[in-house]
Amino acid sequence: EKENSSSTEAREISVYLRTRPLLPNEIERNSVNAAVVHGDDLILYKPEINYKGPRISPIVTQADASFGPEDGNQRVYQLALAELIPLTLGGGLGSVFAYGQTGSGKTYTMSGMQELVAADVFRLAEERGGHYEFKFAAFELLGNDVRDLLDNRKPLKILEDKFGNVEVPDAKDYIVTSKDQYLQLVTAAAALRATESTLKNDTSSRSHAVYRLTCRNTRLPSVKEGTLYLLDLAGSESTRDSKEHDKARLLETREINRSLMTLKDCIRSRALASTRSSAHIHIPYRQSKLTLLLKDAFELSAPRHCRTAVIAHVSPNLLDASHSANTLKYVAPLK
Ligand code: ADP
Ligand code: MG
Repeated sequence: EKENSSSTEAREISVYLRTRPLLPNEIERNSVNAAVVHGDDLILYKPEINYKGPRISPIVTQADASFGPEDGNQRVYQLALAELIPLTLGGGLGSVFAYGQTGSGKTYTMSGMQELVAADVFRLAEERGGHYEFKFAAFELLGNDVRDLLDNRKPLKILEDKFGNVEVPDAKDYIVTSKDQYLQLVTAAAALRATESTLKNDTSSRSHAVYRLTCRNTRLPSVKEGTLYLLDLAGSESTRDSKEHDKARLLETREINRSLMTLKDCIRSRALASTRSSAHIHIPYRQSKLTLLLKDAFELSAPRHCRTAVIAHVSPNLLDASHSANTLKYVAPLK
């Protein structure tokens, strides 16, 4: 059956862990470093109090690779993203998710990836003869709202037609012809997100940013459109703060929670389906706006090659250890 077209492919999902250096303000407060990279694994030292008294227990998490304070964006890109560029040019679908609590380094990673993606995409397209048309769109999902980051945060609707195609009809989808133009759009989108965040209580930690690059081979129209999704997810700590008094915030929190849990379920089901008969595997992508928007990435019947990279970010600060442990718990079943 066609559902299993990808079963001969290499594993579709890779999980990476990244911990940043302690920041100057953390060092100033004598923060203790609780995260250590050991080979491909990450060790988190987490304080605990049990009947024997207080102690620090190490949590070892395996990943496809772990990145520490000395590892720059270039290394993250080489291991986690570089292979997605030829995949996208060839009509495949690559998705990269930056997960983690606010302040753990998601935006640092994703903006670093954008520069390297831009350089690689246009270089490789040129090497291959240049017969590609690229388009770029950027969305922000806050609560149940979808906004256009390339059109002054205009509200958008996500529609699914009777054939199951998901579209965002009024989104600005710019044709991009150069690396510089691509980076200008990325910068504009990120600036809009940051400004809004400063004006209204920290929306960037409570919203998902979705950057979508699509690519069409103009010489070979039979080749499917390729897509690369880069996602800077909402801060994972929001899901646990239940002390919200503001009703709008509470709804936002619920939606963040639902979307992150649904995302995990979708990624996991998609991976399961690619390794065994997919007939009975249900992918709950309709349960959140985020996963509906990304439906293509979980589609079983799509005979496209898909690859997903989850980069989980862990704060090195001992004071954040319980959030960090939750982040590690989130990615553990994705492996
Ligand atoms: P998040 O998007 O998860 O809230 P940020 O990406 O904004 O976190 O990072 C928080 C702070 O840490 C920023 O000042 C950022 O520059 C710094 N930072 C994050 N990751 C790194 C890193 N790998 N190396 C150096 N500084 C980093
Ligand atoms: Mg951020």
